[in-house]
Amino acid sequence: MSIKSVQISLDKNILETCWSDDHISRFHAKWIRFHCKCVRCKPTVTFDYKIDIPSFSPDLAYDEVKITDEGHKLYVIFEKELFHNHVTEHDADWLRQKCYCDACLEEKINARDVISKHLRSGREKVPPEVYFEEILEDSDRGTYMWLQHVIEEGLCIIKHVPTEEKMIEEITSKVATLEMTSYGPVWNVIDTGGDNAAYSTIGLPLHQDQPQYETAPGFQLLHTLRFDSAVTGGNSTMVDLFEAVEILRKESPEDFQTLVEVPATWCQIDLNPFSIEPVYLEHQKPHITLDYFGKVVGCVWQPGTHSALQVRERDVERYYKAHNKMMEIIRRKELQYKFKLSAGDLLIFNNRRMLHARDAYKSNGGVRHLRGTYLRLDHVKSKYLVLARKLGYDVIPPKVGNNSSM
Ligand SMILES: [Zn+2]
Ligand SMILES: [Zn+2]
Repeated sequence: MSIKSVQISLDKNILETCWSDDHISRFHAKWIRFHCKCVRCKPTVTFDYKIDIPSFSPDLAYDEVKITDEGHKLYVIFEKELFHNHVTEHDADWLRQKCYCDACLEEKINARDVISKHLRSGREKVPPEVYFEEILEDSDRGTYMWLQHVIEEGLCIIKHVPTEEKMIEEITSKVATLEMTSYGPVWNVIDTGGDNAAYSTIGLPLHQDQPQYETAPGFQLLHTLRFDSAVTGGNSTMVDLFEAVEILRKESPEDFQTLVEVPATWCQIDLNPFSIEPVYLEHQKPHITLDYFGKVVGCVWQPGTHSALQVRERDVERYYKAHNKMMEIIRRKELQYKFKLSAGDLLIFNNRRMLHARDAYKSNGGVRHLRGTYLRLDHVKSKYLVLARKLGYDVIPPKVGNNSSM
């Protein structure tokens, strides 16, 4: 893309750039100056700090602007420039990529929003599957396949994973280091008669794991080592929380707003636990986080570990009203993935996006044993993008539900 013409505003603060496709960009003088990439301004090593913004005049303004290199470069000299004899030059392609007009911002945010694009509203809820043999055949491509499913659709099952304890570490070692929580790097979901409902045979309602952390675990992996045929019950249910929240926004904007504003508190305080180190964790946050653009970028839902509601008197009733409406949506059958894990299934899902539940079960002399771990969302997203580039795929950095569109 090349620049056709430029024009400076009367106050010398805005540069209007007309492109070869007639798109118009408007760049502030400070923006153009502070993103200068000349040898005096561009960091030479990571964290090298060369532009100290407060040292510049607040009245920094355009003095001279020229198009060079047949429209492929912009040449700028500033009034009230801090550096002696300084020229800023920008590549046209970079400028166009970073255009911050409303239309370009919206296009960028929408392109990254793979979650909204892949909500399965009105479609059959079947978890996507990848076969372990595909990972064995081509480790990079096979790993990329399951990462893509979880990033775009929220969940994936790798079938035919050998039922050996080390497999979960072997598969995740291709992606990221395990995310440590108070339950340790790897844990076993098996009936031990312990002090946690997950380690018993009782049912677990739809929930996310561990919102008592500032950053709840990202990807969750559950490897089915045993699910004996004698065992009855224990079926899995999953719901895309982002889908539920968008339904809430549509059906009841008032309740949606309440869950954006009024926070709940989650805690795990256990000073004499049965099977883990003593913990004292608590975190207050709203159920829904919006970004600067009004997009839903974070959702939290775990009714099982709420501690006492600590909000102003005027917010108590509206909180419970919104909470009940949200529960009603989450429990709708048409939103639910329903499936039964088999030995060898490795279920992977985005814990910041998908709610999961388990029906109660009866052992009848059999065993149901899952081995689980977490991966940090930042690491997974980074690996996904690095792997995409290595494999030659053109992938836009995706929204993953970690409270950010970008
Ligand atoms: Zn410079
Ligand atoms: Zn634009």
